[in-house]
Amino acid sequence: MKEILYKSTRNSDIRVTASQAILKGLSDDGGLFMPTEIPLLDKTLKELSAMDYCNVAYNVMKLFFTDFTEEELKNCIDAAYDQKFDTEEIVPLSEVDSAYYLELYHGATIAFKDMALSILPHLMTCSAKKNNISDEIVILTATSGDTGKAALAGFAEVPGTRIIVFYPKGGVSFIQERQMITQKGDNTFVVGIRGNFDDAQTGVKKIFGDKEFAKELAAKGFRFSSANSINIGRLIPQVVYYVYAYVKLLEAGKVGEGEKINVVVPTGNFGNILAAYFAKNMGVPIGKLICASNENKVLFDFISTGVYDRNREFMLTNSPSMDILISSNLERLIYLIAGSDSDKNRELMERLSKEGRYTITDDMKAKLADFVGGFATQRETEERIKEVYDKTGYVLDTHTAVASYVYKKYAEDTHDDTKTVIVSTASPFKFTKAVMNAIEGEKNNANDFELVDRLSRIANVPVPKAVEEIKTAEIRHNNICDIDKMADTVREFLGLG
Ligand SMILES: *Cc1c(COP(=O)(O)O)cnc(C)c1O
Repeated sequence: MKEILYKSTRNSDIRVTASQAILKGLSDDGGLFMPTEIPLLDKTLKELSAMDYCNVAYNVMKLFFTDFTEEELKNCIDAAYDQKFDTEEIVPLSEVDSAYYLELYHGATIAFKDMALSILPHLMTCSAKKNNISDEIVILTATSGDTGKAALAGFAEVPGTRIIVFYPKGGVSFIQERQMITQKGDNTFVVGIRGNFDDAQTGVKKIFGDKEFAKELAAKGFRFSSANSINIGRLIPQVVYYVYAYVKLLEAGKVGEGEKINVVVPTGNFGNILAAYFAKNMGVPIGKLICASNENKVLFDFISTGVYDRNREFMLTNSPSMDILISSNLERLIYLIAGSDSDKNRELMERLSKEGRYTITDDMKAKLADFVGGFATQRETEERIKEVYDKTGYVLDTHTAVASYVYKKYAEDTHDDTKTVIVSTASPFKFTKAVMNAIEGEKNNANDFELVDRLSRIANVPVPKAVEEIKTAEIRHNNICDIDKMADTVREFLGLG
């Protein structure tokens, strides 16, 4: 197998192995790690179609993580995709209203972040061993809701790791907070801060950048690491389900050999759709990559005009996990369409941080031809949930509904009848209130747990274990701190006196 190294999008002289890239997360120059090339699949789609999820995962990840042995990688995969998922298929496809919904929400926290965060802890501890690092890894995360719980669930009880999550007290949904503060595992620590998400994020970045603190930690055998979505150890595991979805459609006779499919991805940080682009470049017959945004439609504007401009009002919408104005993973695509030119990419990223906008060249824009942008307003999102429910009985969450609306509009406008996979990123039970309001056409005052039971009845779907459990689970984390006390809180948890 060809060795793949990882280079920084801002300096091509920096090259590290896969395990080093996973441990570091971000390159020292602020760039993201990119594989020196995107490898082609070395099995036919037909061969892959006979495999289960773990085997497909191995056949994709082995091509990227070339410094892992077969045994190491298989151990990581088997530890991640197991009974934590409520279905053996791991990511089932549901055929609804002439499209295929790829349900990425059957893991521990019922959102698609589980797909990567259930394997990242294992990739990380394995990477530490390979690089002779014996320090305990301390994951620090600021969350606006979904990532925190998925990271907690992934790292809980993983030997050699601890995880600390900061969330804005009063700034996350009822279900999201309950999910976090009931988290089990002696290596987990959850803290509400008196501030908003930006305060939490800034506080965490400050701790990461504190050289003195790092020294203090090293003396006690700890080192910080990050689980955020720019880690290559999160991106590559997401490529797997696009390969899997295609080969399962092939196996079921829904597509013929070589027949192209389109994919529609509800997008925020651009990680999920970038994984689809990787899958396409590995040889999966994917035609259009349809990027669906909510009212924070920076990406729609970028794809249509070639101008990325974050200077606009930040909207709080009913699909909060897509409320983002800086899509960090887009940098990887910019780097690729700039012809893997790290100087050119660095220049654009510097412009983004200074002026909040940049314009790509016509040459680069031409290389975006496979991407289509679309967006849905909150109103259109709600209407789509109701429309699909009334027609089929299938219930979409708000994020998936954005994608579903964008797909419907695209199909009407273009008459493109290519078979289409719509990526379903969260269970409707995670956003019960918004979903029930959409279906019942009124604002509900009922409490969240009552709505959960009602949703279960009307959708004819059992309440997911993840929600059932938190109804009665013991509250284990009761910590609140001020913004300027975050570092002290970390010291306390680690017993640094
Ligand atoms: C994170 C998230 C997204 C956005 O995914 P990106 O990879 O950041 O584009 C979409 N939907 C849900 C439910 C999410 O949690």
